This record gives sequence, structure tokens and C-alpha cells, in this order.
Amino acid sequence: MKLNIYNTISRKKEIFEPINPKHVGMYVCGPTVYGNPHLGHARPAITFDLLFRYLQQLGYKVRYVRNITDVGHLENDADSGEDKIAKKARLEELEPMEIVQYYTESYHNAMSALNVKSPSIEPRASGHIIEQIEMIEKIMENGFAYEVNGSVYFDVEKYSKSFHYGKLSGRIIDDLLANTLDLDGQDEKKNSFDFALWKKASPEHIMRWHSKWSDGFPGWHMECSAMSIKYLGEKFDIHGGGMDLLFPHHECEIAQSAAALGFESVKYWLHNNMITINGQKMGKSLGNFINLEEFFTGSHKLLTQPYSAMTIRFFLLQAHYRSTLDFSNEALQAAEKGLARLMTAYGSVSKLKVSETSTISINLDELNQKCFDAMNDDLNSPILISHLFDAVKTINLIISDNEQINKSDLDKLKSILDTFILDVLGLVPENNSTNEAVLSDVINLMLNLRMEAKAKKDFELSDKIRNELNKIGVEIKDKKDGFDWSLKS
Ligand code: ZN
Repeated sequence: MKLNIYNTISRKKEIFEPINPKHVGMYVCGPTVYGNPHLGHARPAITFDLLFRYLQQLGYKVRYVRNITDVGHLENDADSGEDKIAKKARLEELEPMEIVQYYTESYHNAMSALNVKSPSIEPRASGHIIEQIEMIEKIMENGFAYEVNGSVYFDVEKYSKSFHYGKLSGRIIDDLLANTLDLDGQDEKKNSFDFALWKKASPEHIMRWHSKWSDGFPGWHMECSAMSIKYLGEKFDIHGGGMDLLFPHHECEIAQSAAALGFESVKYWLHNNMITINGQKMGKSLGNFINLEEFFTGSHKLLTQPYSAMTIRFFLLQAHYRSTLDFSNEALQAAEKGLARLMTAYGSVSKLKVSETSTISINLDELNQKCFDAMNDDLNSPILISHLFDAVKTINLIISDNEQINKSDLDKLKSILDTFILDVLGLVPENNSTNEAVLSDVINLMLNLRMEAKAKKDFELSDKIRNELNKIGVEIKDKKDGFDWSLKS
């Protein structure tokens, strides 16, 4: 089975065939750096990290571009209001670039804690003003933009006569026309759904650059069109981001690129779904906005304990990227236990006893194929994880039965787990994994003693071991030839 990915623009799964058979170009909208990174930042970062890692696993050379938005993103994602970074700078009495520096660093720190690989290129909007101006000039030359009082707007109605505006988000131009609101400060546009390519800066606006239209700054959507084309070429493979960016941001990006070039740039559009907290949308005003740092330290009032970065990563990967995902303490605690079980079994593989006369047979080729099939089916990480848990069961059974495994099976098993746990899912053993491995050894030892007691018909002792382990949270399942255990959730 080849890699299939769900293309938002065609609304179906497609076989992934890159424009250049060996090199893949991938662009993902990165953060607007004016606040601490939170769960909503972690999901797209981890989703596209999974894709980046998997494409590399398949042997592709990937140029992964993820931008930093440091200018032009106005409040409420609209064309009016204050620049998000300039506003933060004003409130904190700092230079905008001090805000950008600080929050870019905290984003990087959080991403590296989550074991998200760095992109190949991380361009900043403010470092690509010339490219954006050049692209706006092209759009104007082609007749799809107009200037009013030093600002330049994209002419959506005119564009939609030659191209299909709304094809990504499914919005229909006539509906947009019927539902337009007359917002303050938007009167200079022909239609309220026209969007800014260049905004003339008001006198107090600090982040401003010279252009032939005015001293001003680019519209938010411009940076991604200009920077993706600059680094990946006029046609490239993958553009990703959160579903919240589908409209207007990505719809406008498509329009800008097509208006400048005459054709669309992106072959596959991928969008991750949103995270809710206890069933509610995340939002500062709702008081349920939890920073990643607060998760790591457990300091937010909604959290009953701290959660490690790997627990957060595992929690996100346990859901398919196109499903909504609801955060709750219970769900994260379950993820923590599941991860511990997976990593403990992974850690004990190298300690399995080897024997060439082993009669244990595990169908590792099938396991390997199932893992690839899961990933090839639109990056189905939850199914992949369920296959890995089948391997966990087998490993635990070999240990509890005091069985041996032959060398070639051991090497194969280790290689499958290295590939899918470490390389593809990007899960790394955390500091406490040594403790967990010791704990696991002790529990297995106790349960082996119980088996011996049972064999000697010392049921008093075997029941005692079971009851005492139960009391401290170890759940034991007796099997035909051994046992399986888990920590109670
Ligand atoms: Zn973008």
C-alpha cells in the first residue's frame, strides 16, 4: 500500500505522488509569536512532525518550511485592529522584536521538549518584505488588486471570474456577497471580503516598511504565499496547518498565488483538527487556555497534576489528526499510563532472553506491514499505536512466561519498535523510564513467585501476592500459560 493522504481541497484520500519523485516540498503555517505556546500550537507541530518523519522514513528528502509570523497578523484575524505583536509590545513596553525574540524562543523550547524536529527552513515574515512587495506588484499587474489611499486590496469578485474562490473552504462567493458586514475601517474596500495585501500604517504604527503605495506593512496572508514560493518553488507538494486557518488564511493564499502566477502552487492541502478542553473551545476569555509550560509543571488550576512532554505528545498521537480531540485530566492520565506501558515494554526488549531453540513464533513481517499500512492510511497513528500494543502484549508474555526468543526475531522486533516508536512517532524514553523498567521487573518477579506458589499449590501465598499487588494498583489477568498485568487507570 502506498501513502494515502486526505487532500482538503479534493475532499478525498489521494495516493501521495510528489512533483519530484525523490524530493518533497512541505510548507506549514507556524505560530504568530506574541504569547506562550499552548496545546493549540502543539497539535499542528506534532501532526506535521509525524508527516515529516514518516516521509523521511519512506526515503524522501524533505524540505520542510515552517514560518514564524512576526508582522501583519492583526487582531481577530481581520484586516482591521492592531497588529498582535505590536499590541503586546505596547502593553509590555518593549520593542516588537523583543516580543518576537522572547516568544520564538519559548516556542522553540516547547517544541524541543515535545521532540518536534526543527524544520529545514524557518523564515520570518519581517525578513521577507521585499518578496511580499514583489508578489503584490505581480498581482496588481495581473489586475487582481487595487490601491486605495496607500493600501492595496485583493479583488475577490474579479478573481472569482477567472478562478474558483472558495474551493478550499467550500464557501460560495454569492453567499459571501449576501452576508457581508459593513465593518468599521473597511469602507475603502470594494467588498468586505476583499482582503489586504498591503496596509498603509497609521502614524503610531511602529512596524512599517517603505513601498511605492505607502509606508506600511503586508497583509497577514501575503507572507505564506511569498515565502513558500521562494523556498519551495512555484509548484510544491504539501501545505499544512490547523483547520482554523482554512478560511480565510489558506483560501486567500491560494487566491494570491494563482493571481500572481496564473496557477495554484499547492498539490496537497492537509489540515489538523482542533482541540477542545472538557468539551469547550479553548480561549483566553473562557479561562481554559493552558500553556504547554503549565502542563509540564501542573501549575494551571484545571490540571490535577503535571504531565510530561512525552505524555502530551502521546496523547495527541493517540487521536487521528483529522479528529477533534478533547483534553481532560482523565484522558491525559490514561495517556500517561499507556505511554509508560509502551516504553517499559520497549525498554525490556533488549533484556529478553535469547535462545536458538526457542519455539516462540511471532509474525513480525505481518506486524511490520500492519504498522506501515496504518501510517499509509492517512497517517493513522492511533491504529499504529494499537499494533504496537499487540507487540507489548507479546513482549510481556515472553517475560512473564520466562520464555526465550531467537536472535533474528529479537533483532527484527527491535528494529520495528525503533522505527515506529522512536523514528516515526518520535517518542523518546523519559528520565523516569529507568524507574518504570525497575518497577516492571519487580512486578514480573512477584508474579513469577506467585506462579511458583500456585504450582506448589500454596494458594494462600499466591492469593496474598495477588491481593497485595492489587491494593497498590496492579491489575492482574491470568492467562492459560502465565499472566498479563497493567497499572490501574
Ligand atoms: Zn500561513
